[in-house]
Amino acid sequence: MQKNTFLYEVSQELARFDAKLLGLFRCPVCLRDLPIGNFGSSDADTAINEEHIIPDSVGGKQTTFLCKRCNSTFGHKQTKWLVEWIELNEGGAPFPIDPKKQKARISANGRKLNGSIHLGEDGAFEFYSDRERSNPVDFDAHWSEPKPSEIKIEFSMPVFSNEETLRVGYLTAAYGLWFKNFGYSFILQSSLDIVRRQILDPDKNIMDWNFLIEIPAREIREPGIGLMRFDEDYFPIAVIYDHIVLLPTAQKLHPPSMSDEKISKKLMSLGDEIAPRFQHRCVGPAVMICDGQVIIQPDMIANATIPPQHIWVDGWP
Ligand SMILES: [Zn+2]
Repeated sequence: MQKNTFLYEVSQELARFDAKLLGLFRCPVCLRDLPIGNFGSSDADTAINEEHIIPDSVGGKQTTFLCKRCNSTFGHKQTKWLVEWIELNEGGAPFPIDPKKQKARISANGRKLNGSIHLGEDGAFEFYSDRERSNPVDFDAHWSEPKPSEIKIEFSMPVFSNEETLRVGYLTAAYGLWFKNFGYSFILQSSLDIVRRQILDPDKNIMDWNFLIEIPAREIREPGIGLMRFDEDYFPIAVIYDHIVLLPTAQKLHPPSMSDEKISKKLMSLGDEIAPRFQHRCVGPAVMICDGQVIIQPDMIANATIPPQHIWVDGWP
């Protein structure tokens, strides 16, 4: 059995809400309580995993904890599409970086060959035929005959037909980022039930408002959290790759108007506010108030063992 000091600290924080939860980890998404001794176990259902919020294959550095059941589900669904999307953009070409991933098919002289396609260094399309995935008779005939005068190429970009799930990929990362920074004070809010339902069911449109705003910059950088003002209201946000994700507050699910032009340019980063307090992730319960508005208020465990501290982030112009 492996041990993890960070996980121990996360569990210590949970016990500050309810002393009876000492030694347990509550999965931030499905909210199941699991003994911290399950860290790294091989049991597919009850193990606890440390996972990258943005997968390390596309440059993510920050990690968080999840139960293995949630972690593997996301890996096959929303996180997979988030990775494909970032790869697609980072590749600087209309295809993912890994050419094996871009399946394609050519038709020539009435024969079809399966393979993969990518953009060569000189900007030309390069097609790699794959005998094992093609009809071997067609394959051999194609390569033994003179070059056909016309070749048709077909390919599909699955990430575009999975846009809804991709949106939930951003949401899942934003939620994980807030958990990493704000711990169980963020997770233990009933106002986030709808977010958890959406994350657990990424193919369904549960959060039926626009929680994802595209930003012009497209570069891999460390994702961050902050607050953003919409008229008079503040909302927790996360900046992830090329999007801002808007999360509900303790009192409001989303801003009244979602038009992109109305979005305040002001981005209030909480990095400095939160980092020193939460670097060990064991200082909850905490309530966050901004200009008199309750932004975060853990209400799922009544009468916390340790009374909540209040964090004011006033003074924003
Ligand atoms: Zn879980």
